[in-house]
Amino acid sequence: MAETKKLHVRKGDTVVVLSGKDKGKKGKVIEALPKKAKVVVEGVNKVKRHTKASQKVPQGGIVVKEAPLASSKVMLVCPECDKPTRIQKTALASGTKVRVCKKCGEFIDKDK
Ligand SMILES: [Zn+2]
Repeated sequence: MAETKKLHVRKGDTVVVLSGKDKGKKGKVIEALPKKAKVVVEGVNKVKRHTKASQKVPQGGIVVKEAPLASSKVMLVCPECDKPTRIQKTALASGTKVRVCKKCGEFIDKDK
């Protein structure tokens, strides 16, 4: 597997925004862009885009969409203790690496 950079958050994670106009907002990561070190978070960093009329959108108009923001601006929220936390990586006996909450010690990647 060719893996380049990895983000501390992944698609489906809940994160909290640390800075900017959406500071303190919580949301789900809907897209992780490791190559750009950016994430798209549900309900965060919304921008309005004016679209021209097209076949898909015959009337044209304004589309509100989440724009990617720097991954360093978000912190993972632990699904167990519901607090923003740093993660620790640990390897299971099987060799699978999982992320662990530094606050409560619970695994964050449970499905792995
Ligand atoms: Zn925790």
